[in-house]
Amino acid sequence: MRRKLEGQTAIVTGASSGIGAGVAKALAAEGAAVVINHSASADKAMAVLNEIKHAGGNGLVVKADVSNEADVQAMFQETIKQFGTVDILVNNAGLQKDAKFHDMTLDEWNRVIAINLTGQFLCAREAIKEFLRRGVVPERSRAAGKIICMSSVHEVIPWAGHANYAASKGGIMMLMKTIAQEYAPQKIRVNSIGPGAIRTPINHAAWQTPESYNQLLKLIPQKRIGEAEDIGGAAVWLASDDSDYVNGITLFVDGGMLLYPGFEDNG
Ligand code: NAD
Repeated sequence: MRRKLEGQTAIVTGASSGIGAGVAKALAAEGAAVVINHSASADKAMAVLNEIKHAGGNGLVVKADVSNEADVQAMFQETIKQFGTVDILVNNAGLQKDAKFHDMTLDEWNRVIAINLTGQFLCAREAIKEFLRRGVVPERSRAAGKIICMSSVHEVIPWAGHANYAASKGGIMMLMKTIAQEYAPQKIRVNSIGPGAIRTPINHAAWQTPESYNQLLKLIPQKRIGEAEDIGGAAVWLASDDSDYVNGITLFVDGGMLLYPGFEDNG
């Protein structure tokens, strides 16, 4: 059977660890050649590529800081030189710099916005340019290109102590919807994934001890933390023609975190 992303090329930003690594492996397993982007962890990115190659897939490691315009443009040029074009962008790179709001420095604010939000703008802009240049290639996909933005449940749930992060994710929601609206006529699809709590380095404090894990589970009706594979499956669906009529949504993958779990025992 033909795999869902056969012949397509995907760029996954921040793919050297966590969700990005899981998404890169899932896209590669469906036949995509995957560019594994990292900003400062070449060894880990290479390990992800080796795993993909070991499983029979194809890819490339590209170093680029997503908040740097020249780096992002060079990453797209290198991808196009190597694979001919780009079909899928997964805007995944992100970080937290947490602080009480009254203590938050301008640098903490600017850094999170630069990587989490401006980074998604810079990468999406290069992807859209390439999608418009190339248009639909029917043998590969019904869309001229697909962008998946890694958002969070915190695009809708406020998060005390994380104003910069929550603001960046709220910004991603409107960035995603606006470019989805702007380019739908050109058959470009833009959607987000809103993960809940996924077991990755970004939130290790929330799951590393039994006490913190039990505390976390109070927020998750399904009573388990998510894994990178949970997000990988969602990314494959949003990148494939199985979701061809889906545009401008956030697909929350959160074990029910948005279901007001505080009301569970309220009856
Ligand atoms: P992670 O720390 O494992 O991964 C983040 C990745 O982004 C790393 O590979 C890091 O090197 C990369 N990165 C950071 N700055 C970069 C830059 N300037 N240029 C390129 N790459 C850069 O954490 P994760 O949980 O896998 O996070 C991935 C995405 O998922 C983030 O956008 C995060 O906000 C989002 N997310 C995670 C969770 C969760 O529970 N883990 C929940 C909601 C959303």
